[in-house]
Amino acid sequence: MDLSNHSILGDAVVTTRLDAVVNWGRQSSLWPFVFGTACCAIEFMATAASRYDISRFGAEVLRFSPRHADLLFVAGTISYKQAPILKQIYDQMPEPKWVVSMGACACSGGFYDNYTTLQGIDEIVPVDVYIAGCPPRPEAILDAVVQIQKKMWKEPALELQDHGDFKGKLDD
Ligand code: SF4
Repeated sequence: MDLSNHSILGDAVVTTRLDAVVNWGRQSSLWPFVFGTACCAIEFMATAASRYDISRFGAEVLRFSPRHADLLFVAGTISYKQAPILKQIYDQMPEPKWVVSMGACACSGGFYDNYTTLQGIDEIVPVDVYIAGCPPRPEAILDAVVQIQKKMWKEPALELQDHGDFKGKLDD
């Protein structure tokens, strides 16, 4: 919209809250980092492709540098060997940031109840939204994006993010 067009706006003044403007911008420009280790990552690829088109929700700018990302999708089985890498990626993401645990393996280890597999990523990073399924449908992934957007609206834009005193197994 051309704000200089007086014939449309005339002398109108638009007022709003800073939180509303900042959170509107955040929710419309999510930059996801996908930590994909197994089959769930393929389902995420389907969600990003043209049929489901995650860009309809402003979240198509996938980034594989954590410093560029604000939404971490963990899609797949996480072994204990991978856990410190996942934690480092989370730590390198700037605040504010959000985490989605996608699928049974990321949420709980899935059927890999063994000595090599982390039994849920919430043992090492705080999770905002869990998606059930093996694998979850693309609609469920899009629903998680919408849930994250709704969560943003409740967060004060200029305050430090509240992670609820989360302390994971790899935290000091
Ligand atoms: S939840 Fe199912 S589809 Fe997803 S990574 Fe685990 S085994 Fe694969």
